[in-house]
Parts: sequence; C-alpha cells; structure tokens
Amino acid sequence: MPSIRPLSELLINQIAAGEVVDRPAAALKELLENSVDAGARAIAVELQGGGAKLLKVSDDGAGIAHQELTLALARHATSKIATLEDLEHVGSLGFRGEALASIAAVSHLSLVSRTLEARHAWRVECHGGDVTPVEPASGPLGTSIEVRDLYFNTPARRKFLRSEPTELAHCDETFRRVALACADLAFSLQHNGRALARLRPQAPLERVRAVLGESAADALLGLDETAGGARLHGFVAAPSFSHGTRDYQYLFVNGRFVRDRLLAHAIRQAYQDVLHHQRHPAFVLFLEIDAARVDVNAHPTKIEVRFRDPQAVHQMVFHALTRRLAQTRAGAPAPEPVLSAAAGLAGAAGRSGAGLSGVGGATAAWTRAPQAEMGLPAREPMAFYQALFGSSAAQPAALPNAAPGGAPPLGFALAQLAGVYVLAQNDQGLVVVDMHAAHERIVYEKLKADLDAQRVAAQRLLIPVTLTLTALEAAAVEDSADALAALGFDLAALSPTTVVVRAVPAPLCDADPVALARDVLREIAEAGATRVLTERRDEMLATMACHAAVRANRMLALPEMNALLREMEATERSGQCNHGRPTWAQISLAQLDRMFLRGQ
Ligand code: ADP
Ligand code: MG
Repeated sequence: MPSIRPLSELLINQIAAGEVVDRPAAALKELLENSVDAGARAIAVELQGGGAKLLKVSDDGAGIAHQELTLALARHATSKIATLEDLEHVGSLGFRGEALASIAAVSHLSLVSRTLEARHAWRVECHGGDVTPVEPASGPLGTSIEVRDLYFNTPARRKFLRSEPTELAHCDETFRRVALACADLAFSLQHNGRALARLRPQAPLERVRAVLGESAADALLGLDETAGGARLHGFVAAPSFSHGTRDYQYLFVNGRFVRDRLLAHAIRQAYQDVLHHQRHPAFVLFLEIDAARVDVNAHPTKIEVRFRDPQAVHQMVFHALTRRLAQTRAGAPAPEPVLSAAAGLAGAAGRSGAGLSGVGGATAAWTRAPQAEMGLPAREPMAFYQALFGSSAAQPAALPNAAPGGAPPLGFALAQLAGVYVLAQNDQGLVVVDMHAAHERIVYEKLKADLDAQRVAAQRLLIPVTLTLTALEAAAVEDSADALAALGFDLAALSPTTVVVRAVPAPLCDADPVALARDVLREIAEAGATRVLTERRDEMLATMACHAAVRANRMLALPEMNALLREMEATERSGQCNHGRPTWAQISLAQLDRMFLRGQ
C-alpha cells in the first residue's frame, strides 16, 4: 500500500477544474459571473477555437487591487463572503473562490486589472498553476482575463473537447443566459475575430427580443407578480406559440440561471390546461426571493438550487402563471400585447438581434402550431359506454384466454370507426380498440425491450433527411454519439446547425424522422445523454413511441387491424396506453342483448 500523502495544491485545483470547468463554456460562465459580480456595465467576450484556444472576458467593473491579484488566483480566496452567515445570504453569483484557481491550473491565464484608486493597471499570469510576479501593465479601469489553451496540461480532459462548432454552441448558450439575466448591461461576443453579438443596455423585453429573436418576443406575455415575499417577473409565451421542444425555457433565481425540477413542475402544471402535453411552454422568468430562503451552494456549477420552503415557492409560481394564462382564454379579451408598448423601441434594438441569431440560427425555430394540429384531441373513450351502461359495464377486462379453437382474445377486426377505433369480434362479443393508444404502447414496450437487450435495430432511410436545429441541439449529436447509436439513430452534423438523419430506430420507421430526431436531440440537450438513458429513459422512449404511433384518421386495412390486435395480445401492459388510459374495451353479447331488450 502506498502511504497517505496530501495532494499538491496544483492537483487539488486540477481536480476541482474537472468539476467546475468541464468545458470552455463552463469557464466562460465563471468569468462572466465574476464580471457581473464586479459591477461591470459592459462586458466583452472574445473567443477563438470554440473557446478552447482563447477565452477572453473584459469588463469595466471595480477591478482588483494589485496587492490582491495573486490572491484572486488562489484557491478558496474570495472577496464575496467571509462567514457562514454570509454564505446563508449570498447575493453574488460567485462565493467559493475556486473558479479562477481551477481555470488557472489547467490553462495559460493572464489577468490584467485596474481599480479606481490605482494609477495604472497590473498584470499577473499563471501557467498551469505557476503564478508569475505581479507587474505593472497598461489597461483601462476594470478587469480583463485571458485564458489560453484550456486543458493544455490535462490531456485526459482535453480528449473530451468536442469540435469547435460544438464548443462554440455551448459558449453561445452560456452567453445568452447571462445576457438575458442582465438586460441592463452591454455585452459583445466575438469568435475567431468575427462579431457575433453586440447588445446595448436594454429593457428586459428588448433584451429577450435581441437574444431569442423577433418571433419569440412577439409571442410573449409580460408578467410581474409579488406574493409571499417573492417576486416572479418576466415573460411567458402564449400557449398557442408553444414549441414542440423545450427551447426557450429560461429560468433565473436571483439572477442565476437554474434548472429546477420543482419550478419546472409548477410551470408545466400552470400550462397543463391550456397546452397539449407534447408541447412545451416557452418562458423567460425571473424569481426574486430572499437569499436566505434559497441554498445556492448545492451543486458544483450552481445550476441547481434548493429552496428552504419548496411548497410555498411552487404555489407562488403556479398561481402567478395560472392567473396570467387565464387571461388568454378563448373569448377573453385579447391579452394585452406586451409588444405594443415596446414596439416603438423594437427598431432601435438595431443589429443586436441579427448578430446573435447569426451564432446558431437558433432564433428562427419558433413555430406557430395551432393547437388543433397537436395530435389526438383529449377525449374520454369510455364516456359514451359508461353513460349507457353504468361505470362497470365497459371497464377494460383482463385479457381473456382464447377459447380452444375459438377466436384469439381480442378477436378479428370488423371495421374502423370514426378514424379512431378498431372494432373487432371475439368469443365474448364486441371489442373496441383505441388504435393510437394501443399502437403507442406496443411501440413503447418494443423499444424498452430492445434497449434492455442492447439491440435497437437501426433502419436506414432510403433518402436521408436534414433538419435545422439550434447550435446547442446540434451539439448533442457530437456530445452523445454513443447514446444515439444505442437508441438506433445514425445522425451526423453537416454544419453547426444542420444535422442529417441517416437511420432511425427500426420500430419507429414510420415516424416523421425530422420531428423524431428533433425531439430526441432536444431531450438529450436538455437532460444529458446519461440521464436520458437512465432516469429519464422511459419518458424518452414514450416520446419516441408517440411519434411512431398511427394517427387518428389513418385508414387501416383489415389485415393491418388484425396485426394490431395480435401485437396487442403479445405485448405486456397493452391494456393501457402510455398515459394510463385504457386501450381497449369489451362489450359482451349479454350487454348488447340487454341494450336491445332481447330475451326479456
Ligand atoms: P469567487 O467568484 O467565488 O469569489 P473566483 O475564483 O471566481 O471566486 O474569483 C476570486 C476573486 O477574484 C473574486 O472573489 C473577486 O474578488 C476577484 N475577481 C475575479 N474576477 C474579477 C473581475 N472580473 N473583477 C473584479 N474582481 C474579480
Ligand atoms: Mg467567481
């Protein structure tokens, strides 16, 4: 056994870097947050090579005193908190004092800063953890940090760097989040010498317009509610402008971009009545809450937070959104268009919007899908029978055993009714099948079984199709090649925002490959490939199955209907669809006889 030794300071920082700065975008996030914390009014970002070659963030904030420059690069050194008390009321974005030390341990870093009191700027450099002496430099008020050759001394981490467009897409998304959170600050973004965005200080809605694009902003309803000591403000999209994917979901807690299950749930619930379950609401929401009521020290990158009174926060968000959305009912007076007030300003947003959308084309993706086209209308297939026979009559029965020599349990198909139901005859009488619900379950169970057995077959498309995505979603193709292959996809990036679909999972060969790939990439971009294959697996497969399932109004031939019935008999849990509704019901001859008063 080797003896126990303390790790070197450098190694400690490199280990921390593995958690905190797992890719250039994460380093960019830390640098941007430091600039915001320093009270900057303007922040300029320059990138090269997707941020891996160069990440430079310059601000006009308070600067760092020259005697503290070395300390700024030291681990666990921060100007933002000093006591446990402070930690419980954190008002700044940073507070752990580990970002600069971590970044400096895995790059060539140069820090130039000048405070108001100083007569000139000072510079300190750090090369893979070796700090140079502080020396005078020229530079404006504020701080400029240059990070070159990220991971130059940690080859294992460097191997995980993806292509330049992919890393750029992640940096771009990071930039958007900070820009949305700080509408009153000016920002600029450059990559390889090309200007991608220039944002002047703006009103919140103008900023959303500049960052997310015109069509997104046009669909937004303003919101500002205070209750129970918290304030929720920002913008939510009218349900009719919802999106097939989870783009444009930006949630900030005290100025920090977060992913939070609790809040996501509250939002989804508020939309539940007005949005089909496969559509996703779009929003840019800011929750302001007493810092003592939220723990921001719960995650290495702080992307998750913990509320001290989750239930109260959930209620507050749910009610605020429900109230706002209630004003969008059909027949209600048209919701006050937030834009009409700001319309005069829209033209003044200038080139900023165009600049940003140039990054990934992400802003062009909003679709105005009318609710009616969103799949099967919600309906209660049993209601009619229950009204006639009482609730016990039409309960889906357990699958009966085939009588020897008789019809199979679900019988033989007779016809299709209303484009929705398959009617069949078995030994007991009439079988009514909700064909979409049943087919969806069959595909879902097949996908589960195939994935468990690691044999989801890929079906090549005769003609590959391409789709346009946000750069971040397209990046998921490269980030998650293994997961996609396991799911039976063959996808390749053609450009930073175009992806070609060459093969889809065989059970889904009838699905629209574009819509299917889009949903899957979105899910991966959102949750990460690992979670999509583990805790979110069933959710993911259910989404996929829904794409493949036969749509209402598709006419089926008798052999197709019979094939469906046979597959149902062979599939576990085929009595309920993936949403828990029954897929079929038995109406016995006795029930029919009663209905016609026969034999009485
Ligand atoms: P933290 O942000 O958690 O305090 P960092 O390692 O990110 O830790 O930064 C260490 C310290 O360096 C900060 O507490 C702050 O005092 C100083 N600092 C970093 N970046 C800037 C900046 N852009 N402007 C002014 N001070 C900065
Ligand atoms: Mg920091």
